[in-house]
Amino acid sequence: MASISLRNVAKFYGDVQVLFDCNLDIADHEFVVLVGPSGSGKTTLLRLISGLEHISSGDLYFGDRRVNDVDVGDRDIAMVFQNYGLYPHMSVYDNMAFGLKRRKVPKAEIDKRVRGAAEMLNMAAYLERRPRQLSGGQRQRVALGRAIVREPAVFLLDEPLSNLDAHLRVQMRAEILRVHRAVTATAVYVTHDQIEAMTMGDRIVVMSEGRIQQVGTPDELYDSPANRFVASFIGTPAMGFLSCRVERKDDTVNLASDSVTIRLQPDQARSVSRSGVERISVGIRPERLSLGEDKAADWTVRGIVDVVEMLGSEQYVHFGVDGGTLTARVSRDHPVKVQQTVLFSGAAEHLHLFDEATGRALS
Ligand code: ADP
Ligand code: MG
Repeated sequence: MASISLRNVAKFYGDVQVLFDCNLDIADHEFVVLVGPSGSGKTTLLRLISGLEHISSGDLYFGDRRVNDVDVGDRDIAMVFQNYGLYPHMSVYDNMAFGLKRRKVPKAEIDKRVRGAAEMLNMAAYLERRPRQLSGGQRQRVALGRAIVREPAVFLLDEPLSNLDAHLRVQMRAEILRVHRAVTATAVYVTHDQIEAMTMGDRIVVMSEGRIQQVGTPDELYDSPANRFVASFIGTPAMGFLSCRVERKDDTVNLASDSVTIRLQPDQARSVSRSGVERISVGIRPERLSLGEDKAADWTVRGIVDVVEMLGSEQYVHFGVDGGTLTARVSRDHPVKVQQTVLFSGAAEHLHLFDEATGRALS
C-alpha cells in the first residue's frame, strides 16, 4: 500500500515557518504534481515525505502507518532530482545498479532489473558509457532508471526536467508518464511549470507561500480556481482581471468598472448578493473574449492594443483596459495592430468572480 496522507503538517527552520497546515491525500498509484512558484515550499514538502527532512508538527502516513519517525531508508521510496546526482566515474550500468548492490540484491536479479529499466528508457545501447558521454536527456534517463530498478512503492521527483531544453522536456514528460503506468507506483512530482503540471498530473496541488492553495484535477483547477492566485497561476496565457463594483438595480445585479458593465447571470447575481461583497475582481480567460461587437453578449470591453504575440496558429492580443491589461486569443484571420482600438465581447457565465479583498472565489 502506498497511499500518502498529510495531516496538518507544518515545517519550521529555526523560527521561520515555511510550511503551514498542509493536508493532502494521495491515492495508491496516483500521479500527483506539486506546482507553485520558486520558494513556495514544494521541495520542502517533498523532502518531508521522503524523510530527508524532519516534520515540525502534524502527521504523515503511508497507508495506515505513521511514518514521521521512520528513516529515509525504510520508507520504500526512490527519488529523482533536477541535477541527476550520478557518479561520474561509474558506467551507466553501475550507476543504475549501485543502490541494489549496496542492498545485497543477488547479481542475476540486479542484471535483470537494470537491463529491464534500460530497455524501458531506450538506454540499452549506452550501459557501458560514463555520464559525461551522455546528453542531458540521457543522464536524466539514467537517474530515472536508477529509481526504477529499486521498484519502490513511491517515486518522488523534484523538477527532473528543468535542465532539459523545451523540446526534450515535452518528450520526457510523456516518457515519465509511460514509465509510471508500467511500474504502477505512487508518484509525487514537483515542478514550477504549470504546463508540465497540467499535462502530467492526475491531480495537481497548487502551492504558494508555504500553503496548499487548491488540490484538484487539471480541469477542476482550470474551470473552478478557488482563489485569484490559482486562477492567475494556471493557464497560458494567464487569466486577466478587471476590478469592478457591484451595482444593484431592481432585480438585476451588474458589475461595473470605468469602461465595462457586466450583466450577471441569475445564479451569479445570487452568489454576489449572498456574499455581501462590494468589490469584485472579475477573471477573464483569454479564449473567452470574442473579437468584435455582439448584441447578445453580456458585456463588451474596448481597449487599446499594447502587445501582439504571433504564435503562428493564433495570436495573443494584450490590450489596456481601466489602467490594467487583458489578454485575448485571436485567430490569425483577424490582423490586429499595436495602438489599434479593439472591441471584445463575452458571456457572463464564463467569468470568474473573486472577492477583491480576500481573493477567494465566490461560489
Ligand atoms: P520551492 O521548492 O517551492 O522552490 P523550497 O521548499 O525550496 O521552495 O523553499 C521554501 C522556503 O523554505 C523558502 O523560503 C526557502 O528559503 C526556505 N528554506 C528551504 N530550505 C531551507 C533551509 N534548509 N533552511 C532555511 N530555510 C529554508
Ligand atoms: Mg524546489
